[in-house]
Amino acid sequence: MPARATRMNAVGTETAFEVLAQVKRLEAAGRKVYNFAIGEPDFDTPEPIKQAGIAAIRDNYTHYSPSAGIAPLREAIARHAGQMRGLSLSPDEVVVTPGAKPIIYYTLLACVDPGDEVIYPNPGFPIYESAIRLAGAVPVPVYLREERGFAFDPEELAARITDRTRLLILNSPHNPTGGVLGPDVLSEVARLAIEHDLWVLSDEIYSRIVFDRPFSSIASLPGMRERTVILDGFSKTYAMTGWRLGYGIMPVPIAEAVARLVTNVESCTATFTQMAGVAALEGSQEPVRQMVAEFAARRDLVVGLLNEVPGVRVGVPAGAFYVFPNVTEACRLVGAPDARTFASRLLEEAGVAVLARTAFGTPAPDEDQQYVRISYAASREQLREGILRMRQWVERGGRL
Ligand code: PMP
Repeated sequence: MPARATRMNAVGTETAFEVLAQVKRLEAAGRKVYNFAIGEPDFDTPEPIKQAGIAAIRDNYTHYSPSAGIAPLREAIARHAGQMRGLSLSPDEVVVTPGAKPIIYYTLLACVDPGDEVIYPNPGFPIYESAIRLAGAVPVPVYLREERGFAFDPEELAARITDRTRLLILNSPHNPTGGVLGPDVLSEVARLAIEHDLWVLSDEIYSRIVFDRPFSSIASLPGMRERTVILDGFSKTYAMTGWRLGYGIMPVPIAEAVARLVTNVESCTATFTQMAGVAALEGSQEPVRQMVAEFAARRDLVVGLLNEVPGVRVGVPAGAFYVFPNVTEACRLVGAPDARTFASRLLEEAGVAVLARTAFGTPAPDEDQQYVRISYAASREQLREGILRMRQWVERGGRL
């Protein structure tokens, strides 16, 4: 067999998908597993959206569509996404993609040259670093620290900006910490982006899943719209992960470039899926409100239960459906050298799946604490039982 391309050395992965395979293996062997490693709502797609997708197939929306997306969907996105961010958007600024993930890579290809530096949050969604490398750019992490409630530190950001910095990735609400960037941090970040003439990729995939405070987008701040690509989509808000439907909102020249990349790689997003997306945006938003209210109740439940586990401490996150507890002392109690061993033994020995901090990037050189991400996209009953098992496992020093 001929050798693989060296480019593949740059491509990372999402540990979540590997843990999912491990969970399935344990379940197939008859084990009961509490899966808190998943990054998708446990709710089903709301019925009217499913019906719209089925009707679209019947009505033969089964052909190619324009690469940037069908007009009714781009219009609906411009209207709805604009409204929630206080922006008056044109459909020409919208590009629809199969899931929101391609927007990450396409934005990098459209905005960044090989050798340019791209700043991204760590811990953070692992695809950022992988996509930066794949685009030939240099990943520069900004570390999010527990002491600051995992918020972006504008001072640390300022210290990382060089002449080669071209783009900054933000993610709010944040995966894996659940942190939400408030107006103060955003305006400080915006000031730096303008001063250094940076592009900003603002990953707002969890923008509708906020609990105690309104969502703010950096794109709404003066001078930011012309340098910001907003990433958003249907996966989380409408529980549509498997439909593959997302979008980016960006200045028109970048939208044209991203649409051309779509033409090169996938031609277009499935047309009937896009019709279901129109129904999602134009229909009742009650299912979204219900889902977010349920997530808020689970967040409070999970934070309370976790803080009762010996050696575990966690703050109250403001968005998404993740908590990111510090488990340093719990690692010691079960004799695990790090969160990675802790997570893999927790799954094997107690049947509880979580993701270790290392699934979200290499820790800072001076980071001496251990963390795991727990997704509360599971029923309250599952959460109660699973966290109880975790508690018993830790209390007994890692034996059950
Ligand atoms: N950004 C973040 C921060 C995410 O957590 C995810 C999904 N896990 C995505 C982007 C990608 O979403 P999609 O499934 O729509 O591609």
